[in-house]
Amino acid sequence: MENLKIIRIPVQTTADCLIEVENLSHSYQTRRALENVSFDVSCGEIFGFLGPNGSGKTTLFRILSTLIPVTSGTVRILGYDLSTEVKAIRHRLGVVFQHPGLDVKLTVVENLRHHGHLYGLSGKTLHHRIAELLEQVGISDRATDRVEVLSGGLQRRVELAKAMLHSPRVLLLDEPTSGLDVTARRQLNDDLRVLADTENILVLLTTHLLDDAEACNRVGILNNGSLVAIGAPDELKAQVGGDVVRIEGEVSERLSTAIAEKFSVSPVLTGGHLRVECERGHEFVRDLVATFPNEIQTVRFGRPTLEDVFIKLTGNPFVQ
Ligand code: ADP
Repeated sequence: MENLKIIRIPVQTTADCLIEVENLSHSYQTRRALENVSFDVSCGEIFGFLGPNGSGKTTLFRILSTLIPVTSGTVRILGYDLSTEVKAIRHRLGVVFQHPGLDVKLTVVENLRHHGHLYGLSGKTLHHRIAELLEQVGISDRATDRVEVLSGGLQRRVELAKAMLHSPRVLLLDEPTSGLDVTARRQLNDDLRVLADTENILVLLTTHLLDDAEACNRVGILNNGSLVAIGAPDELKAQVGGDVVRIEGEVSERLSTAIAEKFSVSPVLTGGHLRVECERGHEFVRDLVATFPNEIQTVRFGRPTLEDVFIKLTGNPFVQ
């Protein structure tokens, strides 16, 4: 879709921005993965990049975590320029990758101790730091268990503790809830909130899951490498306004045109259903069914979701 208008809801404070990105673009050979992406993230925030597959989330994560270089645009983390001061940034970042980085044959504490030694921590300092973090992510009672006996959700919490051992100011996570069930995902989001508050860090994560994005303070929505919206979930949803009605079943362009003419609305045919934004959804549904009794099979309506924000801005369905 051309001439997208980016929704930008301003941040309240810019005084303590820990990540500042200006006009970041990235290409793999001829394929454009990121296109002029600009945003700021502040201390204490949990910021999520939401986008369907191929939208550029991993590329952005890999640039921020210094795995691939900045080739176009500017990225500053904690005031350091990522193009020239990578070394200064690296040990101030905590990074959680999609693929687990734990030795499953070692216990939780052994994994953390080993990792702490790599960062020059030892003795009582390391001991106390490990105890503190296990407490924060709620797994103190599993400290001496071998990692291989822990559930996927608990292993992820060990990864969080590991990434935080050296007290970074910025924690970056690539699809942290991938492969977890709903309960474990909620728990992980709660753990991130505890860490963001108690350690006063910035948490930046990528996700293709709408409810993970809902749990963030602010969300950046990516589509085909471009940032199409940035703001708090509620503020973004307020831009859609009213109710969203989804007409499912045998929907056609002809039905779409007929509804548009009759009710002065703008239906969008996307992902096999017709989507209509309107002010009073319950009255619209009543009138719709009365007007097209034989053509309307299933109708749902509700408050807008982040998926509706994505559809409104891009005209595409959000394919997870
Ligand atoms: P996401 O994490 O949102 O799925 P990616 O950052 O992985 O998105 O990919 C963005 C775009 O860049 C996609 O079109 C993808 O095919 C392309 N891409 C990603 N990695 C590579 C690579 N190593 N070589 C070529 N193209 C790539």
